[in-house]
Amino acid sequence: MNDCVFCRIVAGTAPATKVYEDDAVCAFLDIRPITRGHTLIVPKRHATELDDLDPDTGADLFRTGHRLARALRRGGLASDGANLVLNDGTAAFQTVGHVHLHVVPRRHGDKLRFAKGFLLRRPHEPQSTAAAIRAGLTALDSANPPARDVEGVQE
Ligand code: AMP
Ligand code: ZN
Repeated sequence: MNDCVFCRIVAGTAPATKVYEDDAVCAFLDIRPITRGHTLIVPKRHATELDDLDPDTGADLFRTGHRLARALRRGGLASDGANLVLNDGTAAFQTVGHVHLHVVPRRHGDKLRFAKGFLLRRPHEPQSTAAAIRAGLTALDSANPPARDVEGVQE
């Protein structure tokens, strides 16, 4: 889908600051972040709304959102929490027609900063922000190494 900006980001033909990708999903910084580290996770295969998304990919999307929310607490951004939001359909104010899960880092006491960010939507040093998120993912993985399945034995 060449007319879809998120498909072009997935394909690498439109610019984006990617923080994570695997076979199913790609995560990149929102171009107009509400808070520093605001990330979008999209399925690699185009789906306009949840109605078009297969449930396994929906699970992959949330699994990655869960992982990113945990990573944001560990990297340089040191968040205290996150808002995970998915606007499904134009009725719900979805503005880009490719399913995406927002992960918006939050800090205790950031109510005013959040409100200001919601109005201004200004980028915050994307390269250092992405590096901080990747560091959080690395910290998360080193604390919880993925289980290895060796000849049917779960380690
Ligand atoms: P929604 O209202 O849920 O559809 O949100 C769409 C989000 O996509 C907004 O937060 C936009 O700032 C973001 N966005 C739109 N175009 C791009 C882009 N080219 N790269 C990164 N984020 C984008
Ligand atoms: Zn698309």
